[in-house]
Amino acid sequence: MMRNVQRAACAAIAVLCLSACSREPVANNESDLQPVTGTRIVSAEQGEWLSHGRDYAEQRFSPLTQINDQTVKELGLAWFAPLPTRRGIEATPLMADGVLYVTASWGHVLAFDARSGEPLWHFDPKVPKDYGVRGCCDAVNRGAALWGDKVYAASYDGRLNALDRNTGELVWQVDTRLNTEDPYTVTGAPRIVNGLVIIGNGGAELGVRGYVTAYDAESGEQRWRFFTVPGNPAEGFEDATQARIAKTWYGQWWENGKGGGTAWDSFAFDPALNLLYIGVGNGSSWNRKIRSEGKGDNLFLSSIVAVKADTGEYVWHYQTTPGDSWDYTATQHMILADIAIDGEPRKVIMQAPKNGFFYVLDRESGELLSAEKYMPVNWASHVDMETGRPVEAPGLRDGSFPGMIQPAPSGAHNWQPMSYSPKTGLVYIPAMVSGAIYADDFSAKDRGGVWNTNYAIAPMLEVPDAVPVEQRAQMGEMLLKSVLVARDPASNREVWRAEGGYFSSSGLLSTAGNLLFQGDLDGIFRARAADTGKVLWQTDVQGGLMASPMSYSLDGEQYIAVAQGWGGISGLPYGAVSGPRNMINISRLMVYKLGAEAELPSVEVTEQRLPKPTLEPGTDEQRAEGRELFNLYCSVCHGGNAISAGLISDLRYRINDLGDSWQAIVRDGAMASLGMPARGEFVSESEAEAIKAYVIEQARLGHERGEKRLVPAR
Ligand code: CA
Repeated sequence: MMRNVQRAACAAIAVLCLSACSREPVANNESDLQPVTGTRIVSAEQGEWLSHGRDYAEQRFSPLTQINDQTVKELGLAWFAPLPTRRGIEATPLMADGVLYVTASWGHVLAFDARSGEPLWHFDPKVPKDYGVRGCCDAVNRGAALWGDKVYAASYDGRLNALDRNTGELVWQVDTRLNTEDPYTVTGAPRIVNGLVIIGNGGAELGVRGYVTAYDAESGEQRWRFFTVPGNPAEGFEDATQARIAKTWYGQWWENGKGGGTAWDSFAFDPALNLLYIGVGNGSSWNRKIRSEGKGDNLFLSSIVAVKADTGEYVWHYQTTPGDSWDYTATQHMILADIAIDGEPRKVIMQAPKNGFFYVLDRESGELLSAEKYMPVNWASHVDMETGRPVEAPGLRDGSFPGMIQPAPSGAHNWQPMSYSPKTGLVYIPAMVSGAIYADDFSAKDRGGVWNTNYAIAPMLEVPDAVPVEQRAQMGEMLLKSVLVARDPASNREVWRAEGGYFSSSGLLSTAGNLLFQGDLDGIFRARAADTGKVLWQTDVQGGLMASPMSYSLDGEQYIAVAQGWGGISGLPYGAVSGPRNMINISRLMVYKLGAEAELPSVEVTEQRLPKPTLEPGTDEQRAEGRELFNLYCSVCHGGNAISAGLISDLRYRINDLGDSWQAIVRDGAMASLGMPARGEFVSESEAEAIKAYVIEQARLGHERGEKRLVPAR
């Protein structure tokens, strides 16, 4: 009965599910779903993938060997299924009891029969689309968590949803936000330890105070909350730790930017030590001169913090970037492993944060064991092993540092998960060569509802109009270039590397079959030999990939699953430097196995030329004012120079149609249901006209350059 209801609810998806989806009966029924427990996660059967990074150590290593460096050439598509959103997909699927669970943008959750791909149910959290502007980096979601008879995932607007694993029905829901005014978003996957659902949040680009909350998995009741930065001392500190870390902050940090330090992605858990590790993000505002009078370490920004899992009580921390001023988050993936260093077995935690150093720490004590550059870094020469602190480059803080700082705010490595293979002993990092120019900009202090970094950053948003299109693409690839790196964490030395294309390639999966799986933004999905990096298999998947693949096994067959959907930050502000790339958002789940021969449907694309604007481009003064306002309010989504990176509407292509309703769209929210929020609170009528004049001028310039783009024929 319930199954019929689910099928009806999934009819829309099922209709879209093309020939590759088999119609065999679902093998599992409700009684086949065994409760997920901590013991089950720790001792995961070979074929299971029960937690975000497979188990609490977050190694993203599958012990399965049927698909291996010899057999991988026989790998083919078993089935695929469309996902119901058209924004970036960053989720790692989970597999338990023959059911594959995956999240899509905004916090949608879907369940599929893991053998056949038959859709079982779909939960839509119904996030208002104009909430999208409250986040920095697309309405993504990185995954779900399993516990008992429920599956848990957060929605972009900060709700944590507990769903029935059988039906997808909502069992309980909590709003994880401190308040509804501040721009909190949740994109990370929950982790569940000792029956507590652990979840953080994002928002440090726009101005929030970071924290992590633990909720009872059964009831949704809050058990503890750990703040990663101190609040206003006048309101009283929550605990002794807050009082202590407040001594590392100056000025009125709780006012401009509220400190930041959001834990928006990574956690790891050591059940034996009963320690939960929290990866903490950047400061808000970014610029320490505004945030903290230009001084202080500003704990726990850019730190790994270990807390007692049952209480959230502080145990130790290591700060990767004291007094962060460049968006150098330490929210990047953390991996636990037991490795021999100088012949001595050590329990380590490893991280490659944005700042470009690869850190190996003792995870019991927090002792720094090694820190070496894994990508080009010039903000610091090295990490002093006596003090554990980076030795910063001369002039870095006073603004006399010449030229480009490496890495850029996008980092030498971002959220894309790493992988550690105990078999090769190597850590694989989906890294990036990156750099940016940061110039102080205090003009926008305390502005609401938009990025609040107190920097003008080049070339993230805008390049001079005179730079030819081809040169922009080269510029983009020079400043944001994917590199896949294999490092030996025992020696902290690189073993091999493979150069990639523009921006970061996808997250990683390593397997005991000596394989390493990764996709890229140009739509190629590859398997390499994990020991050498040699490409052994690849397939064209038609659209960009960002998420990590995973692997599972059922009835003696090994599968590789990957969720596809290009977007994220690479799909938003970088239009001026990404060039005319064929990055198309196709959102779907793809599952591979040996000998399978399903085919993806062909994607029809048409070339569209940028039309000549028919509207008057206003005065020089209007266009100059419009340019500044556009960079302030619009370019993070619609792209520098009003050139969209592809995910959000390119206004230049639509200005002739939108011109008449411009005021209603920009100020009154006429397109709020499509994601464009009402901006009347920030933008006056004449300012909206100035922005329009700038867009018309950018459309004219683009038209004269003969710009065109590829769009899917729908
Ligand atoms: Ca950030």
